[in-house]
Amino acid sequence: MNVGIPAASGHAAAEQVLDVHETACCVVGGGPGGLMLALLLARRGVPVTLLEAHATFDRDFRGDTVHPAILEILDEIGLADRLHQRQHVKMYGPTIPTADGPVMLFDMRLLLKTRFPYIMWMPQPIFLDFLATAAREFPSFRLVMGANVQRLLTGSACRALPAIPRGPASCPRGSARNRSSS
Ligand SMILES: Cc1cc2nc3c(=O)[nH]c(=O)nc-3n(C[C@H](O)[C@H](O)[C@H](O)COP(=O)(O)OP(=O)(O)OC[C@H]3O[C@@H](n4cnc5c(N)ncnc54)[C@H](O)[C@@H]3O)c2cc1C
Repeated sequence: MNVGIPAASGHAAAEQVLDVHETACCVVGGGPGGLMLALLLARRGVPVTLLEAHATFDRDFRGDTVHPAILEILDEIGLADRLHQRQHVKMYGPTIPTADGPVMLFDMRLLLKTRFPYIMWMPQPIFLDFLATAAREFPSFRLVMGANVQRLLTGSACRALPAIPRGPASCPRGSARNRSSS
């Protein structure tokens, strides 16, 4: 699969190829889904390039809780303990304020048979950075931030064409196919 960078016009005839990067798998979108998929592929040694439209993970608000089932999945791949080293707060159950102080409506430690009987409060940008950091440990993983995919070309070779702002910080090292208007 080729990963290229199109001209602003998006018209193939007006595009000049500046750079090209070949990969086995191109994942579009560095949310929890895309990052987890890319991480799992990279762990298996699959060359994977992840294209994320935003320049940072601090994008639209997408919540800040990580639930027990997610923590169990992370534990299965050996990442739960490392995640807990990042700044977070544990919530064992919902509480309501009363005149005598906060009262917990139920306690997940008594209800859930899991190593993680709580909701972990962690801003999603921190969680996403954690997944990206874990994925970067695998040489077959490549992350390109600020790569807004415009379209997917199918054929003998599949291509994702992202528009990537020019500049050393946002261009993939020796990789993506840069195109510009001629
Ligand atoms: C307001 C809100 C609060 C939430 N709170 C919680 C919570 O507390 N706990 C919880 O577990 N879940 C929560 N969720 C749900 C959770 O955020 C989603 O389930 C999760 O974000 C889905 O992950 P995703 O990777 O599928 O999609 P997204 O998180 O939407 O990620 C998609 C990514 O793709 C990128 N993208 C889109 N188009 C392109 C393109 N053309 N080229 C390149 N990149 C592109 C986007 O920039 C984005 O980073 C909340 C959701 C919302 C909206």
